[in-house]
Amino acid sequence: MTVQTEKKHYLNFINDEWVPSSTRAVIENTNPANNEDVIGYVQKSTKEDLDNAVATAKAAQKSWKKLPGDARGKFLYKAADILESRIDEIAETMTREMGKTLPEAKGETARGVAILRYYAGEGMRKVGDVIPSTDKDALMFTSRAPLGVVGVITPWNFPVAIPIWKAAPALIYGNTVVLKPATETAVTCAKVYECFAEAGFPPGVVNMITGPGSVIGQGLAEHPDVNGITFTGSNSVGKQIGQTVLARGGKYQLEMGGKNPVIVSSDADLDLAVEATISGGLRSTGQKCTATSRVIIQSEVYEEFKEKLLEKVKEITIGNGLEEGIWMGPSASENQLNTVLSYIQKGLDEGASLILGGERLSGDEFDNGYFIQPTLFENVTSDMTIAQEEIFGPVLALMKVESMEEALELANDVEFGLSASIFTTNIQKMLSFINEMDAGLVRINAESAGVELQAPFGGMKQSSSHSREQGQAAIEFFTSIKTVFVK
Ligand code: NAP
Ligand code: MG
Repeated sequence: MTVQTEKKHYLNFINDEWVPSSTRAVIENTNPANNEDVIGYVQKSTKEDLDNAVATAKAAQKSWKKLPGDARGKFLYKAADILESRIDEIAETMTREMGKTLPEAKGETARGVAILRYYAGEGMRKVGDVIPSTDKDALMFTSRAPLGVVGVITPWNFPVAIPIWKAAPALIYGNTVVLKPATETAVTCAKVYECFAEAGFPPGVVNMITGPGSVIGQGLAEHPDVNGITFTGSNSVGKQIGQTVLARGGKYQLEMGGKNPVIVSSDADLDLAVEATISGGLRSTGQKCTATSRVIIQSEVYEEFKEKLLEKVKEITIGNGLEEGIWMGPSASENQLNTVLSYIQKGLDEGASLILGGERLSGDEFDNGYFIQPTLFENVTSDMTIAQEEIFGPVLALMKVESMEEALELANDVEFGLSASIFTTNIQKMLSFINEMDAGLVRINAESAGVELQAPFGGMKQSSSHSREQGQAAIEFFTSIKTVFVK
């Protein structure tokens, strides 16, 4: 397959061909740092287009699943090499399309390469266990069967890494894929698919279709020939998808929001804690599911930590993420900016004290973009909206506590349980945190937002459907266990 070259129109990728939507309708994607910059047009596809994609994936799965894992892996290695050769270009598209800074976008794209290689290797690793049978003449073992067609629905905040960390394991374990990327970052995702196209997967094995979530996302969830849905995005959409897939007996995996705390203990290395709070809370303009949003600080160090934090946050440079020296880009869209501003207003209305930022930036280079100041609140109590709901913006809520018990209680006093971190040098505090914190990722003396691709990733409570993705944990969703008895 050829690569789509310099152009503005990005097509669906179905059955090894780039095709427009049946109605020819398109959606325009612009740059959140400068809304006069048009990144491209993506297809506003229909149910009919989706049916084609699913039918082609279903047909292709029959022979794809018969290939040895090693042979499937070769396509992933090839895609990794092609993606690696395009890191700079794809990262630039990502920055233009959703605003994160260029170094972050390059890091994410390189991560995508590494994930592809990791799962390519999975094709050569063990998939089952031998279990002693009570029958002396029998051999009993477990094997793995692919689900069939997997529908992948992804958000805009990691437009390269998330589609890859879902599609790559789906493929290596013998499933075929129909991916519906977030509309806001569909051009970036189309470029990842150009790499898949060039890697030469058999026709129908990897498909991408763009269009509104309510049509294409919901359509995938409802489709009787889509055997599994893996979704990352908001809680409201995720739960709706889960119910839809469950109702027709399909398998689903949901990774959703977070309200991640960092605890700064009285014995913490405060400089380290400040640095990690800023990085975890404000990088990517606070738009990571694992972003720090609540900072729970022991009273003995509260003032000192707050002063250090204020001083460092004031140094943050805001602007177009393509420019050198810029640390924080815009919110990813006007919608997202307005959501963040409305949460800030709620914080004020409910009595939190604004100690920094809080406003949209305006003037010269800011007027055509969705830039917002890094924002700090203090005197935040757990019943406030800004202490409970995911904001997805550069907003931190400082909360003062007297003891570790109180810190842990506050940290757990939310519906979410994705990621949490603590800064302490005290082993007892570390252990209580590890034991008591209800979160899928618990991190000691490290920011809440780091993940490694070879380790399981996912949340507790309302943050996920209690499954895990990434690393070898991915096999649990993308396959079914077959218990085999041979006599
Ligand atoms: P979103 O609005 O839920 O959208 C996610 C995906 O679902 C998009 O592809 C979207 O399509 C699609 N969609 C929208 N409405 C749908 C519907 N009715 N039925 C089926 N699909 C539908 O989330 P987002 O705003 O893109 O992303 C931000 C959220 O993702 C945050 O809550 C964040 O915490 C979460 N997130 C979680 C993780 C994690 O691993 N836990 C990682 C990253 C992000 P359109 O783009 O066309 O609307
Ligand atoms: Mg959305």
